[in-house]
Amino acid sequence: MDITSVTGFRFARTRDDLALAPGEVVMGGGTWLMSEPQPGTTGFVDLMTLGWPDVEVSAAGLRIGATCTIASLLAWTDADAPADWTARSIVPDAANALLASFKIWNTATVGGNIARSFAAGAMVSLAVALDGVAEIWTPDGGAREEPVASFVTGNGTNTLAPGEVLRAVRLPAHALRSRARLRKIALAELGRSGAVVTGRVDADGGAVFGITAATVTPTVLRFRTLPTAGELADAVTTASGYYTDPLGSADWRRGVSRVLAEQIRTELAAT
Ligand SMILES: Cc1cc2nc3c(=O)[nH]c(=O)nc-3n(C[C@H](O)[C@H](O)[C@H](O)COP(=O)(O)OP(=O)(O)OC[C@H]3O[C@@H](n4cnc5c(N)ncnc54)[C@H](O)[C@@H]3O)c2cc1C
Repeated sequence: MDITSVTGFRFARTRDDLALAPGEVVMGGGTWLMSEPQPGTTGFVDLMTLGWPDVEVSAAGLRIGATCTIASLLAWTDADAPADWTARSIVPDAANALLASFKIWNTATVGGNIARSFAAGAMVSLAVALDGVAEIWTPDGGAREEPVASFVTGNGTNTLAPGEVLRAVRLPAHALRSRARLRKIALAELGRSGAVVTGRVDADGGAVFGITAATVTPTVLRFRTLPTAGELADAVTTASGYYTDPLGSADWRRGVSRVLAEQIRTELAAT
């Protein structure tokens, strides 16, 4: 795709380089930015040259740099993730929920996916499943943080103010140590997700279910223990935000979310 409005391209090497001129936007992998016209955008500022580590492991959990590609996160999960981070099993499931070619997986970044904030954003599903927190650099040189679940405010919108940059996403250790599952459904076999449902049980017995793609903003349902089938069905069915688009009706999204959540609940109850 020729992006005819863009006449400037800069590599960011320091935080100072993230001061954007009018018309400039930051670029992660560029897979979405390069996929359609960007009216009003006259310059790209490439984040990939900032040298941010892909992943940082600490006692607190995992910090994923916004510029970490989905492929790099998968490779790290496969080879190097701590063995007791059992919830790492849903990373490939989340990546597979992305309607993506090999090229997109190798280029799209975790930060770009979350900042694009599609309802069906695969990395949004992952972060919401595991209580992910967005670390955001503000243009005054400061930082703020916010749960990814509330960072996404609509299908393609979020709380980023002009000049703010998503620096990283943190996944807390307690969530990484949980037993977690992810289920996805799409109307077309290779189509964009119509519903992605996640569920996990933490060491303290608390259970958390997440619904993305089916609701316009992420839905998080928390329970003190694994809910009964009826409790979960009620919570999923009465959640707000199910929407209709060419990829599925609101009623279908509500119905399949209930079915997927029950499949996860049954599996978590059995293990
Ligand atoms: C037609 C099409 C449909 C797609 N649909 C889906 C979908 O439904 N679900 C899905 O998961 N993926 C979808 N994708 C894949 C999508 O390209 C990637 O998931 C991802 O959103 C883009 O990652 P990127 O690093 O290439 O982002 P980029 O294309 O570089 O940037 C995406 C957006 O995020 C901003 N941005 C990037 N990084 C940051 C940052 N660190 N801080 C602040 N802003 C930032 C950019 O300014 C831009 O607005 C789709 C791609 C295409 C081409």
